[in-house]
Amino acid sequence: MLPADGHVHSQFSWDAPAGDMRATCARAVEVGVPALAFTEHVDLTRWNLHGQPLPERYSGHVDDHGAFLGDALQVEAYLEEVERCREAFPGLRIWSGLELSEPHWHPDPVAELVRATCAERLVGSVHALPDLHPDAAASGRVEHVETGHGYDQRHPVDVVRAYLTEVAALAASDAPFAVLAHIDYPLRTWPASAGPIPWEALEDDVRTALSALATSGRALELNTRLPLEGRVLRWWHEAGGDAVAFGSDAHHPEALAHGFRDAAALAEACGFRPGATPFELWGRA
Ligand SMILES: [Zn+2]
Ligand SMILES: [Zn+2]
Repeated sequence: MLPADGHVHSQFSWDAPAGDMRATCARAVEVGVPALAFTEHVDLTRWNLHGQPLPERYSGHVDDHGAFLGDALQVEAYLEEVERCREAFPGLRIWSGLELSEPHWHPDPVAELVRATCAERLVGSVHALPDLHPDAAASGRVEHVETGHGYDQRHPVDVVRAYLTEVAALAASDAPFAVLAHIDYPLRTWPASAGPIPWEALEDDVRTALSALATSGRALELNTRLPLEGRVLRWWHEAGGDAVAFGSDAHHPEALAHGFRDAAALAEACGFRPGATPFELWGRA
């Protein structure tokens, strides 16, 4: 049996127009995923665009200063669809959830949303970096860009370092989340021209972030959008990390549980094992 997929998006996420909660549940039954969490985006950090075009599929708005914010989650409609899917797929465990972007920067609205949704799976993410553009500096505030856009402003290694520094701050915060999403997120947009990922140069920063996460008692997500570098999972074990979650970060039904067999094999090879039931996170072997 495949592990539970703890990080899935549906049509209720602003960047998932091909999302389909019902079809994703049908897909779970078809491929043997025992449980899944619809962790819809909660993004409260504005991204300065500096003229960079947005993919047309994004639903949201650009303010007078050229900063983008994705659409808010429609909580009631989302929870109603979760209920309808639970009735339609009684053999499938369906968790409500949220993917909280930089929740440590937005404590009050995040707490309110967590209360309003009673979400069962809370995933914490970093998607943004401080904007280094001179206009942002001139504003006198800390402004942000999307991480991929960060490569326009920093040396590639410094993008990943800045990302990991924020991950460590998120992990050390008391923000309400149980699983850290995609620690390798900036590598999705790593420029080919920069050559292979320089893991030796990044090791200290990765270990610092993992250590903060382990100390917090939270779980590390094995996000399968990219195959996770094995040494990151070994460092998680060495940091004393107790738990591993699996997340496909699917934005359409066919991507559910993508790469899970390889990811499960990697987790076992790195010293983790399934829980007593498929509904638990994986623990240390
Ligand atoms: Zn994310
Ligand atoms: Zn996601």
